[in-house]
Amino acid sequence: MNAPATTAQITQLQRAARQAEVVNALQKVVPSHALLWQPEDTVPYECDGLTAYRERPLVVVLPETEDQVAGVLKACHALQVPVVARGAGTGLSGGAMPNAMGVTLSLAKFNRILRIDPRSRTAVVQAGVRNLAISEAAAPHGLYYAPDPSSQIACTIGGNVAENSGGVHCLKYGLTVHNVLQVRGFTVQGEPVTFGSTALDSPGIDLLPLIIGSEGMLAVTTEVTVKLVPKPQLARCIMASFDDVRKAGDAVAAVIAAGIIPAGLEMMDKPMTAAVEDFVHAGYDLDAAAILLCESDGTPEEVEEEIGRMSDVLRSAGATAITVSRDEAQRLRFWSGRKNAFPASGRISPDYMCMDSTIPRKRLADILQAIADMEVKYGLRCLNVFHAGDGNLHPLILFDANDADQLHRCEQFGADILETSVAMGGTVTGEHGVGVEKLNSMCVQFSPEENEQMFAVKRAFDAHGLLNPGKVIPTLQRCAEYGRMLVRGGRLAHPDLPRF
Ligand SMILES: Cc1cc2nc3c(=O)[nH]c(=O)nc-3n(C[C@H](O)[C@H](O)[C@H](O)COP(=O)(O)OP(=O)(O)OC[C@H]3O[C@@H](n4cnc5c(N)ncnc54)[C@H](O)[C@@H]3O)c2cc1C
Repeated sequence: MNAPATTAQITQLQRAARQAEVVNALQKVVPSHALLWQPEDTVPYECDGLTAYRERPLVVVLPETEDQVAGVLKACHALQVPVVARGAGTGLSGGAMPNAMGVTLSLAKFNRILRIDPRSRTAVVQAGVRNLAISEAAAPHGLYYAPDPSSQIACTIGGNVAENSGGVHCLKYGLTVHNVLQVRGFTVQGEPVTFGSTALDSPGIDLLPLIIGSEGMLAVTTEVTVKLVPKPQLARCIMASFDDVRKAGDAVAAVIAAGIIPAGLEMMDKPMTAAVEDFVHAGYDLDAAAILLCESDGTPEEVEEEIGRMSDVLRSAGATAITVSRDEAQRLRFWSGRKNAFPASGRISPDYMCMDSTIPRKRLADILQAIADMEVKYGLRCLNVFHAGDGNLHPLILFDANDADQLHRCEQFGADILETSVAMGGTVTGEHGVGVEKLNSMCVQFSPEENEQMFAVKRAFDAHGLLNPGKVIPTLQRCAEYGRMLVRGGRLAHPDLPRF
């Protein structure tokens, strides 16, 4: 007689049965080569850029047409199967992490640029088109797409829309939300839906800003109309050195206070410049406690005038050295260092966790000091790179994910940074979204009533919670278990959080 099956075996059998049911349904709407479900085929999809958290999806589907996307969503809705949309998987908050009993819907084959219209300065592209590919296609017309995440060589416009992504030039040109006119896609029921319009304003309640930054929870995007901007005649970049991070932080506030909106205003601390310089040889000042990169773009006259004004402000704020890029090659070298900050960190540590929070600009020096104290408290190193002009922090905590204790300390370190940012008047996200990474921190940022409003929006689009479930909005129970809950009036229910 056979031994009775264990719980694990029963779960595996149930999973296999569900998988067969889902594959069977999807085979009716997409060709068989568009379906993956064998472990060796689905493993590459088990995480995004937040590699510490992994889950294998039941099935991966790679539709090629809008009809197929609609068919996949309809089939999944009928079976009540969760669906997680996926672009390039470069997200850093676990947003595209699969659901163990769900379908990962990859937009990888939606990679066509449909139209570049230089007269209206717009581009219509499919959701899986890479961010940089849009600017490359627009370049012959003297145009480009302004939001430039450091991952732009790989990340997709569909992912950018879902995360409301930013980049080093967003201080002047705005985030994704400021550069997208229209998003087309499908609801969880597989019905076509359009948000925004190609005109400056759209009739009715404007749902476009709602879909941008909604992390794949409200609809699946298949097509995006973006604004293009003229390539500036000239751009030059200042590298300013400081012997004290506090002075560098204050210099950022001084530049903005002087009424200047640089094309980019970034900051790196000494450990970060050392890691980057070793990797890309950008020409950074390795003696500086922090460096600022400040860019000016426009006509040659505008650039000359602005570079002069910025240099004056930076000198008055205590810059110990100022180098202005002498040509385009040097400017690009300055930026290549900044844009390679994450891979450079990956070279010196088995793993890193990139945090993403925002604080008021004037608190930059305070948060750097708080992070330095946390390095001692949690026994882990942290490198700092900031979109300083936006007050958007990217502390990179170095750890080894194979060491459970280090992972635990890293998570606590990260949560501490986010909660300290909130306490300083900031937010737990800047541009990387909430995903699974920051669910607990959302309990600190929002009251249960505010989180419930977000659930209400989610339910209006997706009554059964099938699109990217378990992400972004924490349940009341989760916040209670986490033991930190914002109560009405902005006070934290947990007593031992730092207040600033
Ligand atoms: C080295 C590195 C540097 C980075 N630098 C930046 C930076 O400077 N600025 C910045 O903002 N981010 C940055 N990121 C984060 C990341 O690249 C962005 O969040 C990016 O927008 C994710 O795009 P993706 O195509 O990889 O999306 P994915 O990671 O595949 O998905 C991200 C989220 O979008 C949803 N999604 C994806 N496609 C769709 C769709 N078609 N319809 C509906 N939902 C969808 C997913 O469900 C998920 O919730 C960086 C990441 C790395 C690894």
